Amino acid sequence: MSKRTTCPTWCDTEHNDVDVEHTSDQHDLSTPRGDVATQLRQDPGGRPYIAIATFEHESPDVLGEAELSLDDAEILGKLLLARVAAARSR
Ligand SMILES: [Zn+2]
Repeated sequence: MSKRTTCPTWCDTEHNDVDVEHTSDQHDLSTPRGDVATQLRQDPGGRPYIAIATFEHESPDVLGEAELSLDDAEILGKLLLARVAAARSR
């Protein structure tokens, strides 16, 4: 894989230009109600963010999308863990 030295360590994209979007590998989670895909991205000159998309099973059609700053993603992650812990405590 060709990778420029300006790429963040998490960049998993093969590209040779300088002003390009950096993207990590995509993580797909299959759930009973659909699939959830997450990816770390960074536009040229921008800050990294988390892109989230939801799909119906085996469908390329996107049902919903969100872009979270790293701070928002951290808050959401903590909130999800707290809710999981609360649900499991009963
Ligand atoms: Zn890159």
